[in-house]
Amino acid sequence: MSYFANWDSESSAELSQDKADRRAVPVKKAECSRPTFSVGLGLETLAISCLSIALLTDMREIRGMWKSPRSLFVVLVAAMLSLSLFIIGKSQVEGEAGELATRILELYKFYQPASMLQTEAHVLDKPKFEVADVHCHWELEADPQGLVEAMDRLGISYAVNLSGGWGKRLESMLNRYKRFAPARFEILVNIDFSEIDQPDFISKWVKFLEEANESGAAGLKVFKDLGLTIRDKSGKIVPIDDSRLDPIWEKCGELGMPVLIHAADPLAFFEPIDRFNERIMQLGRHPDWSFYGPEFPSREEVIRQRNHILEKHPRTTFIGAHIGNSAEDLSHIAEVLDEYPNFVVDISGRVAELGRQPYTARRFFLDYSDRILFGTDRYPGRVNQPRHRIYYRFLETQDEYFDYHEHDFPPTGEWKIYGVFLPDSVLEKVYHLNADRIFRH
Ligand SMILES: [Zn+2]
Repeated sequence: MSYFANWDSESSAELSQDKADRRAVPVKKAECSRPTFSVGLGLETLAISCLSIALLTDMREIRGMWKSPRSLFVVLVAAMLSLSLFIIGKSQVEGEAGELATRILELYKFYQPASMLQTEAHVLDKPKFEVADVHCHWELEADPQGLVEAMDRLGISYAVNLSGGWGKRLESMLNRYKRFAPARFEILVNIDFSEIDQPDFISKWVKFLEEANESGAAGLKVFKDLGLTIRDKSGKIVPIDDSRLDPIWEKCGELGMPVLIHAADPLAFFEPIDRFNERIMQLGRHPDWSFYGPEFPSREEVIRQRNHILEKHPRTTFIGAHIGNSAEDLSHIAEVLDEYPNFVVDISGRVAELGRQPYTARRFFLDYSDRILFGTDRYPGRVNQPRHRIYYRFLETQDEYFDYHEHDFPPTGEWKIYGVFLPDSVLEKVYHLNADRIFRH
């Protein structure tokens, strides 16, 4: 596993080098043909020997042959010659095939086949309509002016930072971004759910929501640790639908603050880490993203808890991060959307999933065009692993079999994606109209 660990950073340079040198990498024909020739020679000699035996021995005179020392000598020499040639050939094949196999396995570690398909490719620097990126994370180091410039370049009207936090951090976030360009930034707050056992937990955080709303915060973001890893003092993992949290969801509804919630995770993170796991490479890089095992609730249970709060708080708008974490099963998330009108989803971090099922995904976009929001899980102008242009290409074009990433390796799974060429009416809703409704822009 060691080479996986640092794959994100240093190995990517190595990979780029590999990519540049890849003309030198393919297995040369000569290497394959030489050993084949050796075996062929052995087999040919064997065949010739058999033929000479047949010629020398007439079936009717077979007894006579065995009596003739000369014939017998010829047969024996031919047989020995063919046998030795065969053995030499075979060992040469095994030796060279072994070397070849080792080399192929070595290459396979970084296997990243370059598609030879010659199909249309569109590079979209700007989206067809203005975009609201409702799923961003940036830190206080990000220069607000730089963000605005990047947003202008990428056609983004406003960006929502989900990492607003609370206390001093939230104050700085609001001052530095929201107050700098009120129409271009929205900040969501976070809650420290690990304080759930403290007697003033609810009064403190409900008051916090009221004040945050007053100061211009636009909503609440709930991270995936709720329901998966946060424990209360009894040692039990706090379920998302813990009734102690009800006043929080209720208050958000009352204040008109949407709750963007990340519940559970991709299906593969709840599966055993074995050779059948479709995200094994990713789990190799981030072993802590595996929630497989008795210490974690099942994925279905976490999703059930999430759905339970949707049901209990119909006045609150919930945004399911990452297609509500059911991008692998769009028929399931469609049912959830049908059942809970206060639920919408964002597409952030799931273009890899959507784009590998273009027919189903396109149908989903058309059927739920009012319920899907644009988001990237990045921020505008992020140099390392940007996403916006790929998302535009995915949503707008009919391009086939292209990379869903700008890393040197596929970060999610070893596949490529297809565009869903959304019609303008759907595209505009996904790009910003749905977000405008929810964030009141
Ligand atoms: Zn996120």
